[in-house]
Amino acid sequence: MSESKNVAGMPAEEFRKAGHELIDWIACYLADIRDYPVLPSVQPGEIAARLPVSGPERGESMDAILEDFRNVILPGVTHWNHPRFHAYFSISGSAPGILAESLAAALNVNAMLWKTCPSATELEQVVLGWLREWVGLPKEFFGIVYDTASISTTHAIAAAREQAAPEARLEGTPAGLVMYTSEQAHNSVDKAAIALGIGHRNVRKVPVDESFRMRPEALRQMVEQDLVGGKKPFCVVATAGTTSTTSIDPAPPIADIAEQHGLWLHIDGAYGGTAAIVPEFRHVLAGAERADSIVINPHKWLFTPVDFSAFYTRRPEVLRRAFSLAAEYLKTSEDSRAVNLMDYGLQLGRRFRALKLWFILRYFGRQRVVEILRSHIGWAHEFASWVEADPRFELAAPVPLSVVCFRYRGSNQQNQRLLEAINASGQAFLSHTVLNGRFVLRMAVGNVGTRRDDIELVWSLVQARAAVLES
Ligand code: PLP
Repeated sequence: MSESKNVAGMPAEEFRKAGHELIDWIACYLADIRDYPVLPSVQPGEIAARLPVSGPERGESMDAILEDFRNVILPGVTHWNHPRFHAYFSISGSAPGILAESLAAALNVNAMLWKTCPSATELEQVVLGWLREWVGLPKEFFGIVYDTASISTTHAIAAAREQAAPEARLEGTPAGLVMYTSEQAHNSVDKAAIALGIGHRNVRKVPVDESFRMRPEALRQMVEQDLVGGKKPFCVVATAGTTSTTSIDPAPPIADIAEQHGLWLHIDGAYGGTAAIVPEFRHVLAGAERADSIVINPHKWLFTPVDFSAFYTRRPEVLRRAFSLAAEYLKTSEDSRAVNLMDYGLQLGRRFRALKLWFILRYFGRQRVVEILRSHIGWAHEFASWVEADPRFELAAPVPLSVVCFRYRGSNQQNQRLLEAINASGQAFLSHTVLNGRFVLRMAVGNVGTRRDDIELVWSLVQARAAVLES
């Protein structure tokens, strides 16, 4: 009888009971999530102070652990899965993704080699092929999953370095390499350059136009100036959906410059790349087919629980040259016939992340994904129209996708106070950015559970808190 069996260190009956309870709890949590304040009201150190300093000498019951989860941990949780979490990028761990994550934990495979889990390796290739097709990238792009866009971009720049200076692998990064990205790019580009020995000083920040997009002519001038100065330009990172305003760098003219000067073109589509699934937003990735690599994060806008970053490259052989290292204990008889994912990156061990994206893409299907993304973009534009119609407010940037940058027509300090008041309400969580020296509020739409009435509620909240500001 299975009841008397032990499953993974726990009596089967106890596992079943706790498992059912947990799923029930998750179902209630997600059904009633609007009842929770999006942001917890705790002070730094408060949660840790409620926990014992040392781990227990003897094991505790699942009941006790779950009770503490509810009473101690939950009060300090920021509810990222809340439909009115509109800060940074509004993300979602959708139901099929949540279920797949538990399966992945149960299987606990390590897909470092094809042999160590053929299904994980092959599903990763297949599911990334589906996503590649949905966003309109050509077949020649090889896909691999990393944890985050920061790590994907680091791998892109490492491949770019391998292409430009193959001696780096043996001798270390040579002096003189320079790379380019816009002033609005995510600082993961800078971090990658620091980590890879390129040097922060050698990341050139290309100026942007009035819509916060990289100016290709400025890029060309900077590359030419560097060549005259004896430098070795090797890489350019364009962004499809920048972190602050979701501006989209013009990839086609950037690709022209990259091709002319032999630069590796990486496109950071961590957030914006997903929009290309929507037929009328395909243009977000215009020119991406000419890039050497691109990153798209399903954990940002494709309903995938953190973490999941899809990295594609047209030059997998360069990536492989940068990272493969033979170790006797990892050799298998299938090596010549199979992809071993450990050869394409820093990490050896890898989670079965493909499972969750497979569940999600199958459960929703392309048409429903398109409908949801379309409604997110539509609601963001509607919100923007309300901002424009209220003389107390103004838009601070164009709205290409599902993020609205707006401000109260007042001082930076007033806008900061407005943001704090909105977030203190617990009803919604917005974040900010600074554009041209002005403090700006950001309203990101992207959660799978968000409804139009959530967006209306946020706008009413903004208006009400602004009225208090004026009084
Ligand atoms: N690129 C862009 C455009 C982003 O907005 C972000 C984060 O918001 C990143 C990269 C980094 O993403 P991750 O947290 O997956 O490293």
